[in-house]
Amino acid sequence: MNKVSDHLFPIWRGARVPQGWSWRLGGAIWEVGGLAGAERAPGFDCPVWCVLCRGGREWLQDACQRGRGAFRLPTDMLSIRLPQLFDMHQVPKVFREDGIISGYRHPRSSALDCILSSFQMTNETVNIWTHFLPTWYFLWRFSILCSTLSFLTDSYTWPLLVYMLVICLYPFTSSCAHTFSTMSPEACHICYFFDYGALSLYSLGCAVTYASYVMPEPWVNSWLHQHFIPIAIGNSLFCTSMSCYSRFLEMQFPHRSKILRIWAFVFPFLFDNIPLFYRLLLCLGGSCSHTEALSSHCYHLLFAFLTCFLFASHLPERLAPGRFDYFGHSHQLFHICAVVGTHFQMEAVLADMTSRRGYLISQGAMPSFLGTVGALVLGVLLNLGIIGLFSASLLRTPHLSTQSSTTTTIASSTSTSTSTLTHSSSTCHSNPGVSLPHPAELKED
Ligand SMILES: [Zn+2]
Repeated sequence: MNKVSDHLFPIWRGARVPQGWSWRLGGAIWEVGGLAGAERAPGFDCPVWCVLCRGGREWLQDACQRGRGAFRLPTDMLSIRLPQLFDMHQVPKVFREDGIISGYRHPRSSALDCILSSFQMTNETVNIWTHFLPTWYFLWRFSILCSTLSFLTDSYTWPLLVYMLVICLYPFTSSCAHTFSTMSPEACHICYFFDYGALSLYSLGCAVTYASYVMPEPWVNSWLHQHFIPIAIGNSLFCTSMSCYSRFLEMQFPHRSKILRIWAFVFPFLFDNIPLFYRLLLCLGGSCSHTEALSSHCYHLLFAFLTCFLFASHLPERLAPGRFDYFGHSHQLFHICAVVGTHFQMEAVLADMTSRRGYLISQGAMPSFLGTVGALVLGVLLNLGIIGLFSASLLRTPHLSTQSSTTTTIASSTSTSTSTLTHSSSTCHSNPGVSLPHPAELKED
């Protein structure tokens, strides 16, 4: 029996074990076998109950204490201090959202703080992830298409290539905008300028795809078909310009700003979908063809309507301010609906592309490089130019630095210290030639 227990529980065998073993733990040497003379550890000559009876309890406590000390990591490594969050009235107006009361990040966060904040529960966290994760979903779908289609050699697939690029770009840009928007009021505006630019490129990508795959049969090679993409480029520039400009109106004319921004996106959406609306109309009239994609198109339209409604209505947080600060506010739902709608749109485009290939090629409606990739490159360059102009206007807008300098004092309810957030406009340069008001200044208290 003794032999069996010795094999099962060698730690209790102690000095009687000829081939003893030991290890060093935090300075305490636990020697189980082969100990010599006076340094033998007490208590390991017998089972645990015996160890405890013979004063081994003190020795064990001592060993544990010393072991704990040896394994203690630097305090800074274990205690992760999450940045403090603020309430609506504690941050400059530029960062405030209707119906969102708490969970605001520091309005002068560093880039690292912004990245880390995506792992902290703030009122932006879900906004960040609801567009970051779908980016990877669309990239995954894109990679599968890359392995099954020949984007380099088959010109029929170029519109799809453009579309896949923009549907990966817009959620990623949006995710970045939500992540870094709290670096400063100016950074907030510039981040959303890029967000709007990416959305307007998405509208251009949709136009390229719809012109190539969705155009109803009576309109193939018509005047509208041939001018669809140049008009869409113009719409994209209009969309970016109006949506960026709307940020300059937001404080003085909030309703006008909101309406302007909504129409900036609704207008290109309506234009892009003219071919689809006509196809649906033809179907209602009984002359349907290539119906494989129509159900997905309808789901996309439904989610697009929901997206627009959520963006415009600020529901549900408008009905219960403060209740949806972290989960369930309209912008999160807006992101989700936009992504789900894009998923259905992608499925519809793929179905149309596959089922209408023979018909469209027989009509000589092959996409050109200029009308697809060329249009996207032109759209990117022109949109970057517009964003650059608005960003320069924002940074050079005349600032009465001494008068417009504002201070928001944040008294922490949980901390004994009181930190002061100072937003000074003194970094902006005076430029009397620019007539746009400074949004950051307008939105300050
Ligand atoms: Zn967003």
